[in-house]
Amino acid sequence: MPQITVKVDHAACSGVGSCEQTAPAFFKLDSANRAMVLSKDGVESAAEQTLSVSDDEAKLIVEAAESCPMIAISVFDDAGGKIYG
Ligand code: SF4
Repeated sequence: MPQITVKVDHAACSGVGSCEQTAPAFFKLDSANRAMVLSKDGVESAAEQTLSVSDDEAKLIVEAAESCPMIAISVFDDAGGKIYG
């Protein structure tokens, strides 16, 4: 189960919502139409979260990041290496 850090650059996010459509368990638009990253239990939301996820969940999160037209989502591995963004 990899640990990854997911970060949304709110200066770049335009609220298109493809991240939320692709991975609704991990991304949610807030009332200001900015994408927030959800904790695994869906309770906390923040511009940046470090999550323990399955390989399939990690793939889905990267897919959501790739779907962002603004390239506003970055994904890092547990060593701080950039996976996407
Ligand atoms: S897909 Fe990108 S621009 Fe759209 S809401 Fe998500 S982070 Fe923001």
